[in-house]
Amino acid sequence: RRAVVLFTGDLRLHDHPPLRAALAAADEVVPLFVLDPAVARAGFDAPARRDFLAGCLADLDAGLRERGGRLVVRRGEPAAEVCAVAAECDADEVHVAAADSGFGQRREDRLRVALAGSGRRLHVHDTVVTAVPPGALTPQGSDHFAVFTPYFRHWSAYRLRDTLPAPRTVRVPESVRSAELPAGGPAKGGERAARRRLSQWLRGGLEAYDTGQDDLAADATSRLSAHLHFGTLSALETVHRARAAGGPGADAFVRQLCWRDFNRQLLAARTGVSAADYRTRHDLWRSGRAADADAAAWREGRTGYPLVDAAMRQLLAEGWMHNRGRLVVASFLTKTLYVDWRVGARHFLDLLVDGDIANNQLNWQWVAGTGTDTRPNRVLNPVLQGRRNDPDGDYVRRWVPELAAVRGPAVHEPWKLPEKDRKGYPAPVVALPDALDRFRQARGLR
Ligand code: FAD
Repeated sequence: RRAVVLFTGDLRLHDHPPLRAALAAADEVVPLFVLDPAVARAGFDAPARRDFLAGCLADLDAGLRERGGRLVVRRGEPAAEVCAVAAECDADEVHVAAADSGFGQRREDRLRVALAGSGRRLHVHDTVVTAVPPGALTPQGSDHFAVFTPYFRHWSAYRLRDTLPAPRTVRVPESVRSAELPAGGPAKGGERAARRRLSQWLRGGLEAYDTGQDDLAADATSRLSAHLHFGTLSALETVHRARAAGGPGADAFVRQLCWRDFNRQLLAARTGVSAADYRTRHDLWRSGRAADADAAAWREGRTGYPLVDAAMRQLLAEGWMHNRGRLVVASFLTKTLYVDWRVGARHFLDLLVDGDIANNQLNWQWVAGTGTDTRPNRVLNPVLQGRRNDPDGDYVRRWVPELAAVRGPAVHEPWKLPEKDRKGYPAPVVALPDALDRFRQARGLR
């Protein structure tokens, strides 16, 4: 017997139910990844993620080769490629993990149609992307949770299945041809790097996570987001291992992983929220030349607010930004500049190595007040946020070289410094009290 396993956002060998089921049912298995040109057409093919993906695929191939197999890569429409591969090796069945995004659900529908009548069975397994599958927990009267706290309570009590080990051997039929693996940076992506990072984190970072997670300069978060996005790390295994470590650091970390599941279950139930407001506030976001100029200053890290600019420059340089930074810059764009959250979400998706439709769009909506936030009109003040989360100003000095010589927290208010000390750093694009007035008026708060 033969089976095809379609890998999507689950580029790993550990804890992979579809692979496990295929190996139990068949003597030979084709581990398949399809490079789908529609991803680029949808504008989701950012260079940082393309590079990371190349590393993930190279590592998956290496892991399979160690076990006697190999990865088969194809280019094209996934349903058509799965059918072609299944026909080439005369497979009896196809295994795939359930999709949660609209894009993934459409792919799954096409696969179902394409395989119908071929005599080959399609097995859709629970998603392997989250710890708790979307839809497994629902409140009374709805198909998803819209508030985090009750979701977290149910999620914490949910009995997770055990983690599955990686297979020892994988036999792949020789007849199936593979395209070349895409070129890219194998050093960054991949299951082995992910597992190393997780072990390091559990040993050396987790314990202090609850006290250090918002400290921008300390950089004391796991940096596992891209691995979780590409599924080189199982969210379920990550939760199990963090819980086993125990302590307040682990509790705080597991709570963040729950946010990830929360966003997924919401997107799976309401795929349209990737582009449309979850809860409309009837915002008439600013548009036109002045708004475009403000958005450009935001993108380029020259708003004149050091914390915002430091975080935006970190994003440009690293393809990653600290969560506290993301909260502050998103609040700044949507509530201080009053520019549509979609403008910011697009920019993030163009650059983030962990750019993820569920986490990105729903966090943007949360901050913009169009999502599930229970305080939709809260505005983060970038100066106060700087004093609180970068108390000595080290994070700002790291990313804003114009202000590198300014000592201590004075770096958060450069407009109070003599001009010669500002070294060409721009004046604020807007005064905070004026911006707050504009926002309150727009939301009908006065
Ligand atoms: P840690 O603090 O170590 O957290 C561990 C893991 O928990 C993360 O890797 C992530 O998978 C999950 N997590 C943490 N915070 C959140 C959160 N607020 N919501 C959902 N999951 C969370 N995360 C993405 O993975 N992709 C995105 O595209 C993305 N866009 C965001 C946009 C905005 C405006 C905001 C405010 C947040 C966004 N986040 C996104 C969430 C969060 O900022 C990142 O997951 C986190 O900064 C990644 O760093 P880390 O792995 O060191 O996180």
